[in-house]
Amino acid sequence: MLTDKNNGSSITADIQFLDASYHLHPFTNTGALNKKGARVITKGEGVYIWDSEGNKILDAMAGLWCVNMGYGRQELTDAATQQMTELPFYNTFFQTTHAPVAELAKEIASVTPGDLNHIFFANSGSEAIDTIIRMVRQYWAIKGKPYKSILISRENAYHGSTVGGTSLGGMSGMHKQGAPLLPNIERIRQPYWYGEAGDMSEEEFGIACAAALEEKILAVGPDNVAAFVGEPIQGAGGVIVPPANYWSEIQKICTKYDVLLAADEVICGFGRTGSWFGSETLGITPDIMSMAKGLSSGYLPIAAVAVGNRIANAFIEHDDDFNHGFTYSGHPVSAAVAIANIKLMKQENIVEYVANDIGPYLQKKLRDMLTDHPLVGHIEGVGLIAGIALVKNKETKELFPSDLDVGLICRDHCFDNGLIMRAVGSRMVLSPPLVISHAEVDELCEKARLCFDLTLKSVSE
Ligand SMILES: *Cc1c(COP(=O)(O)O)cnc(C)c1O
Repeated sequence: MLTDKNNGSSITADIQFLDASYHLHPFTNTGALNKKGARVITKGEGVYIWDSEGNKILDAMAGLWCVNMGYGRQELTDAATQQMTELPFYNTFFQTTHAPVAELAKEIASVTPGDLNHIFFANSGSEAIDTIIRMVRQYWAIKGKPYKSILISRENAYHGSTVGGTSLGGMSGMHKQGAPLLPNIERIRQPYWYGEAGDMSEEEFGIACAAALEEKILAVGPDNVAAFVGEPIQGAGGVIVPPANYWSEIQKICTKYDVLLAADEVICGFGRTGSWFGSETLGITPDIMSMAKGLSSGYLPIAAVAVGNRIANAFIEHDDDFNHGFTYSGHPVSAAVAIANIKLMKQENIVEYVANDIGPYLQKKLRDMLTDHPLVGHIEGVGLIAGIALVKNKETKELFPSDLDVGLICRDHCFDNGLIMRAVGSRMVLSPPLVISHAEVDELCEKARLCFDLTLKSVSE
């Protein structure tokens, strides 16, 4: 039954039945989903996916911010097949290594900025973040300052969903569940200019948000603060691009109080903003950074932490084990796919394409086609990442009541009309595959316009 390709709807019902019976979904109201049935995705090619009913959908979220080189890349499949045949697994704990992990470390170092040339491997962004938490604390312990253990992050930041990631992130909906959180984590306000700046100019607001870091450091004592952690551009929080002066101010404050600066590059890394890493686009010089998603274009799970000389040398010179790692740290098959992915990105000059061609094209087209829409309060974004604020009143920025869930209404219209855009509260977010063409960007923007019209109609009824 499940393989009967001629009867789409029966396949849909069968898989939905199994899914509802046995599968607990992440970040999902399971009871509600089970009643309506999950959409069954069956294949992908380029920037499109298909569902089991035969609908072709433009995936403007690149899966979950990750399928950067698009679906169906034979080079990545071949790399996996070959490595799987040769050596499907070996660990890197027993003073052992293998070619894929060593070569991938070098490939990553070839694209990271500055001296971030030492690479620690994990399997997910959350694990990379947990690694950063443990590594920066251990760094200060090695330096004789074990009390320097507080990490500072931002409200509405997303750093993953392990206990460490949840605690470090600033998602209130996550903090309410599975508490208590980790101790020694502090948060400051997010640099969300459109939503939270009041009458301040972008520049004034950038200074004010960075000043919040200095105030927090002074409040808890500079000698107690290990690191500040932030996404160059907040992704899951709604795609929030900070004011242009924000990160340089943050950097100055970290230097002033000898606080390490960690960039969470899980979304911004690997070309998304038109540089290999968001840190380059936003003018950040981090001491350490996490990466995942785009590292393998999502084809297999893999993540990494790139460590600069300051931290790496402390560990290298300290004559002791670092008691941290994962069975699948540097998994050979995932590593082989990531190598092939980075090589493909280089061959196709994809970062330049995002920086100089398709990124500016998408940003302009979105603004040209959507700025005057009655629902659109503000559009922000860089390269191939964008966030669109939906508002009830463009002049006053008044939002729709949250129980109306305008974002979900819009997301559903998008899905029904062949476009995947994600809703984060009342913000719509976009991060299409980096290989998207001009014609596909045109299609994306036309569909978005149509779906905003349908959303307006729904909320007016
Ligand atoms: C997705 C994400 C994570 C978590 O990655 P997982 O692979 O889902 O664990 C961490 N940080 C940022 C910025 C992310 O977008």
